[in-house]
Amino acid sequence: MVDLKSQYEKIKTTVDASIQEVLDTTTYINGPKVHEFQKNLEEYLDVKHVIPCANGTDALQIAMMGLGLQPGDEVITADFTFAATVEVIALLQLTPVLVDVDVVNMNISIDAIKKAITPKTKAIVPVHLFGRAANMEAIMRIAKEHNLYVIEDNAQAIGANCKFSDGTKKKAGTIGHVSSTSFFPSKNLGCYGDGGAIFTNDDALAHTIRGIVNHGMYIRYHHDVVGVNSRLDSIQAAVLNAKLPLLDSYNAARQNAARKYSATFEGHKNVIAPYICDICDCHVFHQYTLRIIDADRDALMEHLLAKGIPCAIYYPIPLHSQKAYVDSRYKEEDFPVTNQLVKEVISLPMHTELDDEQIKFITDSVLEFLNR
Ligand SMILES: *Cc1c(COP(=O)(O)O)cnc(C)c1O
Repeated sequence: MVDLKSQYEKIKTTVDASIQEVLDTTTYINGPKVHEFQKNLEEYLDVKHVIPCANGTDALQIAMMGLGLQPGDEVITADFTFAATVEVIALLQLTPVLVDVDVVNMNISIDAIKKAITPKTKAIVPVHLFGRAANMEAIMRIAKEHNLYVIEDNAQAIGANCKFSDGTKKKAGTIGHVSSTSFFPSKNLGCYGDGGAIFTNDDALAHTIRGIVNHGMYIRYHHDVVGVNSRLDSIQAAVLNAKLPLLDSYNAARQNAARKYSATFEGHKNVIAPYICDICDCHVFHQYTLRIIDADRDALMEHLLAKGIPCAIYYPIPLHSQKAYVDSRYKEEDFPVTNQLVKEVISLPMHTELDDEQIKFITDSVLEFLNR
C-alpha cells in the first residue's frame, strides 16, 4: 500500500545526517531534536502548542485525560474509523457513543451528532478519515451550543485544510479544543518507528498535558496528577525534522495520484470515487478509497491481489459490531451508512512515490475486472 523504501532513498542524506547527530550527542530522550521538531510543527500548523508523545493512540488518551473527562461522561465519535479512537474512550471508562457517518465525505454525520447529545455528553471526537477534513465549522457550532469539548483525531489528515464559510482556512487539528496525531510510518508524516503528538491553542491545557505525558510531574519528583510515560524519542524527531519540510509536497503527490485515479473512474457505473475539491486542500489522501456499487467488491480485491496489487478494506467491520464495543443501546437502523460503506469500500495503493505507469496498471486492473 505504501512505498517507504523509494521515499527514504530520496531523502537518505538528510535523514541519515539528522539521525547521526542524535547518535553523536547521545541525546536519545528529550534531546534538542524533539524540541526543534515541536517548534517546527507549531509553526507549520500555526498552533500555539505541540506536545510530542509516543504514538497516536496515546495522544488521544492524553488529550482526554488533559480535559479532565470523568468515568461515565459520554463521548461521541464515528462508527466508521480505526478502533484506537473508541478504545481510549473505553479505556478511560468514559462512555463511547458511536454515531453514523456521512455518505459523501465518510466523516462523522452532523445530524447523527445532534441526535446523540444527552445531558451526559461531554465531548465530540471527529476523525478526519482517510485524510479528508471533517466539517469542523458545523461541529464547533454544535459544541459551543451544548458546551462540549472537541478533540480532533488528526492521525490521517496532517496538512489538510478546513475551510470556513467566511473564506478562511485552518489546518485540521488546530480547530478543536485539542487534537491528536500519529507519526506511524505509513501516515502522511511518518517517522521510522512509533510517534505521535497532541496540539492545542489553550495555554493551561498545554501545561496540564505536558505534565501528564511525564508521569504527572510539573516539578521533578513532584507528582501532582496521575500521568503516563509517553515520549517521542530523539531519533524519531530527527526523522520528522527532515521530513516535515517535505510534507506539503508529499500531500500534493498524493492528491496528484488521486486525481489520476479518479479521472479514470469518472462516470463508471460501478465506482464512486472520492470527491476532490480543487479550491482547497481539504483532502490529503491518507487513503484513496473507492466505493464499489453493484459489483463484487471482495472478488475485485482478490483479482487485484492476484495481480500483485496491494489493496485493503478500511474498515471491514463497523465499531458498533466489534465484540469489545457492542452495546445494547445501539440499533442497526442507527448506522445505515457505516453498514453500507463496510460492504462497498476498497482502498488502492496510495503514497508519495506512485508513478503514471503504476497508476495505469492499477486502474486498468480495476476496470478489467469491472468491465468483464
Ligand atoms: C493511526 C491511527 C491512530 C493511532 O495511531 P498510532 O500511532 O498507531 O497509535 C488513531 N486514530 C486513527 C484514525 C488512526 O488512523
